Amino acid sequence: MKRSTDVKDYIRTIVDFPHEGILFRDVTTLFADPRGFRMAIDQMLHPFAGERIDKVVGLEARGFILGGAIAHQLSLGFVPIRKKGKLPGTTISEEYKLEYGEAIVEIHDDAIQPGEKVLVVDDLLATGGTAEAGIKLIERLGGEIVACSFIVDLPELGGRAKLEKMGMNVSLLCE
Ligand code: IMP
Repeated sequence: MKRSTDVKDYIRTIVDFPHEGILFRDVTTLFADPRGFRMAIDQMLHPFAGERIDKVVGLEARGFILGGAIAHQLSLGFVPIRKKGKLPGTTISEEYKLEYGEAIVEIHDDAIQPGEKVLVVDDLLATGGTAEAGIKLIERLGGEIVACSFIVDLPELGGRAKLEKMGMNVSLLCE
């Protein structure tokens, strides 16, 4: 168990994963450390103390781990946004671009009620494509996004700028 109060110290970087030339930020080491995980959840929640939030939405897959813990802490419901074909009920979907090709994400069409205040959660913000697709799904259901909260920002990939251009409040813990 580490003693650091900097979440960055709990995240390891894996070279050449999933492809050669990629430096993958591995947050499983943060999740596995009891102090690190507690601290990350506390720090993600801190900016929203006293704000109205009705639902927490997590982006597959590490957004489920963070979003579940945050929703539990706030005594709120949790809603997953999943890759195509994983949700059993009626869904709406959004397509978005990946480095190579496209992907589709889905949400249950009854998961958010119009006017509900939503906190969007994921582990890492890169190009912002995944979060943008998630935001569109939530807004199509009438949800109002309070903020998008991530642990890691990769600023050179422009995700934060993209989401802020969409009018989003973006919260990040480290680069
Ligand atoms: P974006 O759509 O380009 O912003 O990529 C963000 C999505 O890809 C998130 O769901 C992340 O979990 C995942 N991702 C991309 N790069 C990494 C990484 O280095 N570590 C962990 N997740 C990553």
